[in-house]
Amino acid sequence: MGRCRGGGGAPRPRRDPAVLFPRALSYHYGETLAAAFEGATDVPRCHCAPCREWGAANGTADGLRPLTTFTDSADRADAHRHNHAAWSMIWDYVMAAPDENEAGRRWGGCCERALPTLAAANVGRPDNPLKPPPALRVWAGSGARSRRR
Ligand SMILES: [Zn+2]
Repeated sequence: MGRCRGGGGAPRPRRDPAVLFPRALSYHYGETLAAAFEGATDVPRCHCAPCREWGAANGTADGLRPLTTFTDSADRADAHRHNHAAWSMIWDYVMAAPDENEAGRRWGGCCERALPTLAAANVGRPDNPLKPPPALRVWAGSGARSRRR
């Protein structure tokens, strides 16, 4: 129908959902991720169950879902399922550790990979970088404690 809503002063609500970038342990809007990896050869793909369902339904070459495909309000429910499933995979990996030390090591490893993952995604795009959440800097930095002599 394309009806005009009028009252042009109000900011338009975002249509793209917030999406977990699992390897970066951070959430980004779908359009932001799509812009960050536009033209990239190594677009991050997700292998959580809902994303594999999407990959099968959409016939992607590897059966996975690129994280750059959550760009519309129609993708909101899928994004929610992805966010939950992807966090669960990370959590399961950490909690499957045989003891607390190993669990700490696993979580620390996830955190230490996250910042370089974002940095790599930002190469050549100084104007609109993917930003790490403040907590991630703290989590990634906490690994230094275990290297104390
Ligand atoms: Zn996923």
